[in-house]
Amino acid sequence: MLAGRWAGDDERERWLQALRDALPEARWIVAPADAVARDEIEVAVVANPAPGALAALPRLKLVQSLWAGVDRLLADATLPPDVPLARMVDPGLTEAMVQTAQWAVLSLHRRFFDYAAQQAQAQWLPLPQRRADEVAVLLLGFGALGRAVAERLMAMGYRVSAWRRGGADRDEVQDAPLTLHDGADALPAALAQADIVIDLLPLTAQTRGLLDARFFAAMRRGAALVNLARGAHVDDAALLAALDAGQLGRAVLDVFATEPLPADHRYWRHPRVTVLPHIAALSDPRSAAQVVAGNVRALWRGKPVAHLVERDRGY
Ligand code: NAP
Repeated sequence: MLAGRWAGDDERERWLQALRDALPEARWIVAPADAVARDEIEVAVVANPAPGALAALPRLKLVQSLWAGVDRLLADATLPPDVPLARMVDPGLTEAMVQTAQWAVLSLHRRFFDYAAQQAQAQWLPLPQRRADEVAVLLLGFGALGRAVAERLMAMGYRVSAWRRGGADRDEVQDAPLTLHDGADALPAALAQADIVIDLLPLTAQTRGLLDARFFAAMRRGAALVNLARGAHVDDAALLAALDAGQLGRAVLDVFATEPLPADHRYWRHPRVTVLPHIAALSDPRSAAQVVAGNVRALWRGKPVAHLVERDRGY
């Protein structure tokens, strides 16, 4: 079954066609399914479906998200508790996220946002130029996206470090070619060393509201925040106060607590905020459908399904 909230019928049809092409041996049903079809559905492929869409599917064996973040799915109390849930790790989405992070870091490092502001004032003012290895970038989150972004930024010459939850089950990459900071206690020191902080965390009980006044105070004075993850990580009043006080130099924001961002929100017109309409990285139907097909075939063959969400930790 394919269930979701789509920008329009065209978007749903594009996904359905890509899924049919990738997995022709499956019979696809578009939600809402009738009672007979509901009894047969084994896999639900979902894009933030309406709450309740996944209840009362007696043969359901797998929920496969088309989106990388599953916070809205997990918030649906009718999500069957015992059915495995897989999130999307799509090479097309990952490459798009790497490109957005690359653009943001390069624009901050080389002051291209400042030059855009200068142009609006017909102002000709060359600014000092730094080398990439003089710019420290901290990634919040070192998962599928954080690792890909780290790799590209290191290839561009930046000084990259990453912060993650860590723990006993997470030390397999201790030899990663970058500094890793594990756990909440390590965050202030990690923030104090960074010129640019990129948020690539999932939204969980622990990360909601994490970017608050204390967080911004721990950052280097004049450093920049790039939020490519979730708006609910941020205390907006604290971020605006940190920008107004010059504690933060700039914020590049792709995600917001309320989307679309309300027309009267201060972010729209703040001189040191760049607003994007949640487009940092979209799943690409062509590559994502192949990921879905791989997982459904693994399920059919009794093999491990990839990228399962651990419900207890929320990602
Ligand atoms: P992922 O592979 O699950 O990685 C999550 C990372 O966050 C892991 O490194 C994890 O630490 C870390 N983490 C989780 N909770 C933490 C905590 N409490 N403290 C410190 N670190 C914590 O996720 P992903 O695929 O990289 O995606 C990350 C997020 O990006 C998604 O959840 C979604 O919100 C966002 N996203 C946004 C867009 C967009 O267009 N703006 C598109 C796609 C995704 P461990 O390594 O120790 O487990």
